[in-house]
Amino acid sequence: MRLELARVSVIQYWSQVTCTASLRGLYPLGGMLNHACTPNTRRGYDCQHRMIIRAAVPIVKGTEVTNSYTALLWGTPARRHQLYTTKHFLCTCPRCEDPQEKGSLLSALRCCTSDCTGCILPEDPLNSESPWGCSTCHRSMTSQRAGVVQSALGKVLGRLDTTDPVSINRFLRGHKRVVATTNQIIVELKCNLVCIYGHAAGYQYSGKAHLLCDPTMFLSLLEY
Ligand SMILES: [Zn+2]
Ligand SMILES: [Zn+2]
Repeated sequence: MRLELARVSVIQYWSQVTCTASLRGLYPLGGMLNHACTPNTRRGYDCQHRMIIRAAVPIVKGTEVTNSYTALLWGTPARRHQLYTTKHFLCTCPRCEDPQEKGSLLSALRCCTSDCTGCILPEDPLNSESPWGCSTCHRSMTSQRAGVVQSALGKVLGRLDTTDPVSINRFLRGHKRVVATTNQIIVELKCNLVCIYGHAAGYQYSGKAHLLCDPTMFLSLLEY
Protein backbone atom coordinates (compact mmCIF):
# COMPACT_ATOMS: atom_id res chain seq x y z
CA MET A 1 0.00 0.00 0.00
CA ARG A 2 2.79 2.40 0.89
CA LEU A 3 4.56 1.63 -2.37
CA GLU A 4 1.39 2.29 -4.30
CA LEU A 5 0.86 5.59 -2.51
CA ALA A 6 4.46 6.56 -3.17
CA ARG A 7 3.78 6.28 -6.87
CA VAL A 8 0.69 8.42 -6.79
CA SER A 9 1.14 12.09 -7.45
CA VAL A 10 -1.09 14.42 -5.55
CA ILE A 11 -1.55 17.44 -7.69
CA GLN A 12 -3.27 20.62 -6.84
CA TYR A 13 -4.44 22.85 -9.58
CA TRP A 14 -6.72 25.73 -10.23
CA SER A 15 -9.88 24.55 -11.85
CA GLN A 16 -9.73 25.51 -15.52
CA VAL A 17 -13.46 24.98 -15.78
CA THR A 18 -14.88 27.21 -13.09
CA CYS A 19 -11.79 29.19 -12.02
CA THR A 20 -13.37 29.23 -8.59
CA ALA A 21 -11.90 26.23 -6.83
CA SER A 22 -8.53 24.81 -5.96
CA LEU A 23 -8.65 21.05 -6.48
CA ARG A 24 -6.48 18.09 -5.55
CA GLY A 25 -6.39 14.90 -7.57
CA LEU A 26 -4.69 11.50 -7.46
CA TYR A 27 -2.99 10.55 -10.71
CA PRO A 28 -1.23 7.17 -10.43
CA LEU A 29 0.04 7.16 -14.02
CA GLY A 30 1.03 10.82 -14.07
CA GLY A 31 2.88 10.25 -10.81
CA MET A 32 5.26 7.87 -12.57
CA LEU A 33 7.03 10.72 -14.35
CA ASN A 34 10.32 11.88 -12.87
CA HIS A 35 11.05 15.55 -12.37
CA ALA A 36 13.12 17.74 -14.68
CA CYS A 37 13.48 21.53 -14.55
CA THR A 38 13.41 21.46 -18.37
CA PRO A 39 10.81 18.71 -18.83
CA ASN A 40 10.01 17.29 -22.23
CA THR A 41 6.27 17.30 -21.54
CA ARG A 42 3.68 19.76 -20.34
CA ARG A 43 0.68 19.00 -18.21
CA GLY A 44 -2.92 20.05 -18.61
CA TYR A 45 -6.39 18.98 -17.53
CA ASP A 46 -9.62 18.45 -19.44
CA CYS A 47 -13.07 19.50 -18.28
CA GLN A 48 -13.44 16.23 -16.35
CA HIS A 49 -10.19 16.95 -14.49
CA ARG A 50 -8.30 14.20 -16.30
CA MET A 51 -4.61 14.88 -16.61
CA ILE A 52 -3.36 15.34 -20.16
CA ILE A 53 0.40 14.95 -20.74
CA ARG A 54 1.63 16.31 -24.05
CA ALA A 55 5.13 16.31 -25.52
CA ALA A 56 6.64 19.79 -25.26
CA VAL A 57 9.50 18.93 -27.61
CA PRO A 58 10.18 16.10 -30.06
CA ILE A 59 11.03 13.09 -27.86
CA VAL A 60 13.45 10.56 -29.33
CA LYS A 61 12.44 6.95 -28.76
CA GLY A 62 14.07 5.63 -25.60
CA THR A 63 14.35 9.07 -23.96
CA GLU A 64 12.93 9.35 -20.45
CA VAL A 65 9.64 11.23 -20.36
CA THR A 66 9.78 13.89 -17.65
CA ASN A 67 7.53 16.39 -15.98
CA SER A 68 8.18 19.41 -13.75
CA TYR A 69 7.22 19.25 -10.07
CA THR A 70 7.75 22.96 -9.65
CA ALA A 71 7.18 26.26 -11.45
CA LEU A 72 9.01 26.52 -14.77
CA LEU A 73 9.31 30.30 -14.58
CA TRP A 74 10.95 30.37 -11.16
CA GLY A 75 14.68 30.95 -10.81
CA THR A 76 16.99 28.18 -9.63
CA PRO A 77 17.16 29.13 -5.90
CA ALA A 78 13.35 29.29 -5.68
CA ARG A 79 12.85 26.03 -7.63
CA ARG A 80 15.44 24.10 -5.64
CA HIS A 81 14.10 25.42 -2.33
CA GLN A 82 10.55 24.46 -3.22
CA LEU A 83 11.60 20.99 -4.44
CA TYR A 84 13.60 20.43 -1.27
CA THR A 85 10.89 21.53 1.14
CA THR A 86 7.98 19.81 -0.62
CA LYS A 87 9.56 16.84 -2.45
CA HIS A 88 12.64 16.33 -0.24
CA PHE A 89 15.36 16.36 -2.89
CA LEU A 90 17.85 18.88 -4.19
CA CYS A 91 17.73 19.01 -7.98
CA THR A 92 21.09 18.87 -9.78
CA CYS A 93 19.80 18.88 -13.34
CA PRO A 94 21.64 20.73 -16.16
CA ARG A 95 19.39 23.77 -15.78
CA CYS A 96 20.00 23.96 -12.03
CA GLU A 97 23.77 23.77 -12.42
CA ASP A 98 23.88 26.46 -15.12
CA PRO A 99 24.26 29.96 -13.51
CA GLN A 100 22.50 31.48 -16.51
CA GLU A 101 19.72 28.86 -16.53
CA LYS A 102 20.08 28.22 -20.24
CA GLY A 103 20.05 31.97 -20.90
CA SER A 104 16.77 32.65 -19.11
CA LEU A 105 18.47 34.54 -16.21
CA LEU A 106 15.37 34.09 -14.08
CA SER A 107 17.28 34.60 -10.81
CA ALA A 108 19.16 37.69 -11.96
CA LEU A 109 19.39 40.83 -9.85
CA ARG A 110 20.60 44.17 -11.17
CA CYS A 111 24.24 45.00 -10.52
CA CYS A 112 24.47 47.95 -8.12
CA THR A 113 27.74 49.31 -9.54
CA SER A 114 26.96 52.70 -11.08
CA ASP A 115 26.84 52.64 -14.89
CA CYS A 116 27.03 48.84 -14.95
CA THR A 117 24.19 47.16 -16.81
CA GLY A 118 25.21 43.63 -15.88
CA CYS A 119 23.28 41.04 -13.92
CA ILE A 120 24.21 39.43 -10.64
CA LEU A 121 23.83 35.65 -10.58
CA PRO A 122 24.90 32.83 -8.25
CA GLU A 123 28.36 31.59 -9.25
CA ASP A 124 27.57 28.02 -8.22
CA PRO A 125 23.80 27.55 -8.17
CA LEU A 126 24.09 24.07 -6.63
CA ASN A 127 25.68 25.60 -3.53
CA SER A 128 23.30 27.81 -1.54
CA GLU A 129 26.32 29.49 0.14
CA SER A 130 27.94 30.40 -3.17
CA PRO A 131 28.68 34.09 -3.77
CA TRP A 132 26.81 35.92 -6.49
CA GLY A 133 28.73 37.82 -9.13
CA CYS A 134 28.16 40.39 -11.89
CA SER A 135 28.67 39.07 -15.37
CA THR A 136 30.00 42.45 -16.56
CA CYS A 137 32.01 44.18 -13.82
CA HIS A 138 32.57 41.04 -11.69
CA ARG A 139 31.29 42.76 -8.55
CA SER A 140 30.55 40.16 -5.90
CA MET A 141 27.65 39.78 -3.47
CA THR A 142 27.29 37.24 -0.66
CA SER A 143 24.51 34.68 -0.86
CA GLN A 144 23.11 36.19 2.37
CA ARG A 145 22.92 39.63 0.80
CA ALA A 146 21.26 38.21 -2.32
CA GLY A 147 18.78 36.45 -0.03
CA VAL A 148 17.97 39.72 1.74
CA VAL A 149 17.30 41.46 -1.60
CA GLN A 150 15.10 38.59 -2.78
CA SER A 151 13.24 38.48 0.51
CA ALA A 152 12.61 42.24 0.42
CA LEU A 153 11.30 41.96 -3.13
CA GLY A 154 9.07 39.08 -2.09
CA LYS A 155 7.59 41.16 0.73
CA VAL A 156 6.87 44.07 -1.60
CA LEU A 157 5.36 41.67 -4.09
CA GLY A 158 3.23 40.11 -1.34
CA ARG A 159 1.61 43.49 -0.69
CA LEU A 160 0.99 44.13 -4.38
CA ASP A 161 -2.44 43.65 -5.91
CA THR A 162 -1.36 41.39 -8.77
CA THR A 163 -4.77 41.73 -10.42
CA ASP A 164 -4.46 45.50 -10.78
CA PRO A 165 -2.51 46.59 -13.88
CA VAL A 166 -1.93 50.10 -12.45
CA SER A 167 -0.20 48.63 -9.37
CA ILE A 168 1.77 46.17 -11.48
CA ASN A 169 3.02 48.87 -13.82
CA ARG A 170 3.97 51.07 -10.88
CA PHE A 171 5.97 48.18 -9.40
CA LEU A 172 7.70 47.47 -12.72
CA ARG A 173 8.74 51.10 -13.09
CA GLY A 174 9.79 51.45 -9.45
CA HIS A 175 12.05 48.40 -9.40
CA LYS A 176 13.85 48.87 -12.70
CA ARG A 177 17.15 49.57 -10.96
CA VAL A 178 16.96 46.64 -8.58
CA VAL A 179 15.59 43.71 -10.51
CA ALA A 180 16.79 42.47 -13.88
CA THR A 181 14.17 42.42 -16.62
CA THR A 182 14.54 38.65 -16.80
CA ASN A 183 13.97 38.07 -13.07
CA GLN A 184 11.15 35.67 -12.23
CA ILE A 185 9.20 38.37 -10.40
CA ILE A 186 9.16 40.61 -13.46
CA VAL A 187 8.31 37.70 -15.75
CA GLU A 188 5.46 36.64 -13.47
CA LEU A 189 4.03 40.15 -13.30
CA LYS A 190 4.20 40.52 -17.06
CA CYS A 191 2.38 37.20 -17.43
CA ASN A 192 -0.29 38.65 -15.13
CA LEU A 193 -0.56 41.71 -17.36
CA VAL A 194 -0.94 39.51 -20.43
CA CYS A 195 -3.88 37.76 -18.72
CA ILE A 196 -5.45 41.03 -17.61
CA TYR A 197 -5.13 42.87 -20.91
CA GLY A 198 -7.87 41.63 -23.15
CA HIS A 199 -9.80 39.75 -20.49
CA ALA A 200 -10.43 41.68 -17.28
CA ALA A 201 -13.28 44.15 -16.96
CA GLY A 202 -12.25 47.45 -18.52
CA TYR A 203 -9.42 45.85 -20.49
CA GLN A 204 -11.27 43.72 -23.03
CA TYR A 205 -10.39 43.56 -26.68
CA SER A 206 -13.39 44.58 -28.76
CA GLY A 207 -12.55 42.33 -31.69
CA LYS A 208 -12.70 45.35 -34.02
CA ALA A 209 -9.02 46.16 -34.08
CA HIS A 210 -9.29 48.83 -31.44
CA LEU A 211 -8.94 48.66 -27.70
CA LEU A 212 -11.39 49.87 -25.12
CA CYS A 213 -8.50 50.78 -22.85
CA ASP A 214 -5.51 53.06 -23.07
CA PRO A 215 -2.95 51.43 -25.42
CA THR A 216 -0.06 53.06 -23.54
CA MET A 217 -0.61 50.48 -20.80
CA PHE A 218 1.08 47.95 -23.07
CA LEU A 219 4.30 49.92 -23.03
CA SER A 220 5.46 48.33 -19.82
CA LEU A 221 5.40 44.95 -21.55
CA LEU A 222 7.66 46.26 -24.28
CA GLU A 223 9.88 48.73 -22.46
CA TYR A 224 10.76 47.06 -19.25
ZN1 LIG B 1 16.76 21.26 -11.71
ZN1 LIG C 1 28.34 44.95 -12.62
